Formats: sequence, structure tokens, C-alpha cells
Amino acid sequence: MVMGLAENIEQVQERISRACKRMGRDPSEVTLVAVSKTFSVDVVVEAYRLGLRDFGENRVEEASEKIPNVKSRMSNPTSDLRPLTAGVRAPKSEITWHLIGHLQSRKAREAEALFDVIHSVDSLKLADKLSGLCVESGRVMPVLLECNVSGEESKYGFAAAEKDQWLADVQAILALPGVRVEGLMTMAPVVADAEEARPVFRALRQLRDELAVRFPQASWRHLSMGMTDDFDAAIEEGATMVRVGRAIFGERRQR
Ligand SMILES: *Cc1c(COP(=O)(O)O)cnc(C)c1O
Repeated sequence: MVMGLAENIEQVQERISRACKRMGRDPSEVTLVAVSKTFSVDVVVEAYRLGLRDFGENRVEEASEKIPNVKSRMSNPTSDLRPLTAGVRAPKSEITWHLIGHLQSRKAREAEALFDVIHSVDSLKLADKLSGLCVESGRVMPVLLECNVSGEESKYGFAAAEKDQWLADVQAILALPGVRVEGLMTMAPVVADAEEARPVFRALRQLRDELAVRFPQASWRHLSMGMTDDFDAAIEEGATMVRVGRAIFGERRQR
């Protein structure tokens, strides 16, 4: 179990509220995605009881064990979850599962079956594969396009600096029937001070604003950016989804 989980969640929600207040934003515009990677089913269930409804995982392999287990805990009528759903803060009772880590095309089928939203669409090839799978199962998957804003070679994501290629890829993805693009996602570089990540967040928002003008057929409403050390700055720069692990669940053990 995680010590102080309720307090951690409260503190994170307080940080979100304060950042929104500074910018005159409504906190309901910001979804807290609790990054539960490396943490157990029990921990997810506990966080659910405390009101969280959005969870993020970064590996299909780990999620393929965890998600069905959490779901079976929730659908079991004698489960510890049932009586507690009445008084929780979040209005919806189901969990939304977010895939936030790199997805290999060969694992797309499994990911399609497990996840509700995919933040890490980082190539036309992957988008096309996912779209085909979603069409097969009669659904449309909400996705975000992951952008490598900082240009670090170690990072996944579209290289938005290579403009012609990037715009051609976006255009092709928007035409796919099985995925619905709802915005952009980025991983900021790991820096000592959150202020150093701010230009990356700002650049992602500017990129989004440009795309919204060029491709008005998509909503572009989401910006998935900000993690434990820097989500306050990300919210100030327009984040609508923050992906927070350690501030909620504590430090992760090495895999
Ligand atoms: C692990 C992870 C996070 C959360 O990081 P914390 O520093 O624990 O908040 C966010 N986004 C992605 C893609 C991750 O893999």
C-alpha cells in the first residue's frame, strides 16, 4: 500500500487548483491522469476509492495484467469498491485508461483492446494501424499526437521542426476513420527547475494553436503535458491533462 495516498491526492489537486486560479482557469478543465505504472492493482483500487478516475500506464505488457484485474475487482458485486462509489468526488464511475508510453505497431491490437485514450501516437504508420483495428472493432479511438518539441534525440514523437513532413502526416492521420485526434502530447526534458520546462510547454501550445487554424476539422482541445515536477507550469501554459505519478504514489522502485 502507499502511505499517505489520500494526502498526496489532495495536495496534487490543491496544486492544480492553485495553478488554475493563477491563470483564471476552471480546474474542471484539467484532467488529472494518475500514472500508476509499476504500482499494483491494490494501489489503483485504493486510488479509485479516493476518487480518481483516470489512470495512465506506459507499457502494454504491464497494463495487460493490471487493467483486466482492476476491471474484475470493480465488476465483482462483493468487491470492496461497490459501496464506496456513492460519495466519491468524480461524477463518472468507470475508469478511463490512458496509454502514455511509446506504442510499437505490433502491440497496437493489444493496446486497442485495453485503452480508452492513447496519448502517444507518434507516427503515421502507428495511427494507420490503430485506425484499422478500431474500425474492425467498431469504435473510434481518441488519440493525441506526441510531439518531440525539445528535439532531443532520445525522445519519441513527431519532429514538428520538420514542418512539411509533419503537416503531411497530420493531414493523413486526420483522414483516418478509426482514430479521432483531440490534441497534442509532449514529454518535457528532465530538468532541475520546472521553469526550464516551461518553453517546451509553451511551444506545444503554439503548435496546437497553429494546427487548429490549419486543420479546423479536428478539435485540438487537449494538451497532455506536465508531470510531478512541473505540472504547475504546464497548467499555466494551457495543459488540459497532467500525467502525475510520483506526487500521488510516491517514488517508483527500479524495474
Ligand atoms: C512515468 C510517466 C509520467 C509520470 O511521471 P512522474 O514524474 O512520476 O509524475 C508521465 N508521463 C509519462 C509518459 C511517463 O512515462
